[in-house]
Amino acid sequence: MNLILLGPPGAGKGTQAERLSRRFGFVQLSTGDMLRAAVKAGTPLGLKAKAIMEAGGLVPDEVVIGLIAERIDQPDCKKGFILDGFPRTTAQAEALDKMLEGRKLRLDKVIELKVDDAALTERIAGRFTCAKCGAGYNDLSKPTKVPGVCDACGSKEFSRRKDDNRETVVARLKAYHEQTAPIIPYYRARGRFVSLDGMADMDVVEAALVKSLAVMTNG
Ligand code: AMP
Repeated sequence: MNLILLGPPGAGKGTQAERLSRRFGFVQLSTGDMLRAAVKAGTPLGLKAKAIMEAGGLVPDEVVIGLIAERIDQPDCKKGFILDGFPRTTAQAEALDKMLEGRKLRLDKVIELKVDDAALTERIAGRFTCAKCGAGYNDLSKPTKVPGVCDACGSKEFSRRKDDNRETVVARLKAYHEQTAPIIPYYRARGRFVSLDGMADMDVVEAALVKSLAVMTNG
């Protein structure tokens, strides 16, 4: 099954994509993760993307389209994939259509996670991850059980994304409303679209997602 998770930064796309990927074996394709890996590795693409990402802007369409086109050709994507953070513009949505058509692949579902802007700033500013195993936490909604110790691996090292600060969030939300939200009617009009409440608890959102996929598989 090939899916798109749409929604503003902090809506829970990454968390839910990871959960669906664990549950069903679909591959999570996050352009944000791919770009962060390129920045970390200091590749030419990473050097180009770094300043844009830190300012909360969008990396040029051709860069992210190229990343996805290359990634969906990998054999593991045959099991199905979840696009998390892509497409983010009309040009990316159109390029994705062409890419899928050329490979005789179809989009089974587009899921929007709806969240209020006011809640997003708090959510994003509170995010942190274990530097060792990558487990995700939040100061407000999901702190570690023992302060300063990762629940999953016991590590005491944590990291925060450079763009997860209040100033950058404003720019990221602006980019979402101006450039990404306009693609929602495009997918809504084509059907196989569902809009879910991303304000609910993560487990509740996951259950709603799984239900919407089950409904589809059963007919
Ligand atoms: P994310 O992890 O999805 O929040 O993405 C982090 C940052 O990476 C965004 O704020 C953008 O600067 C960049 N980015 C990720 N995906 C895309 C995309 N599809 N198009 C343009 N820029 C992107």
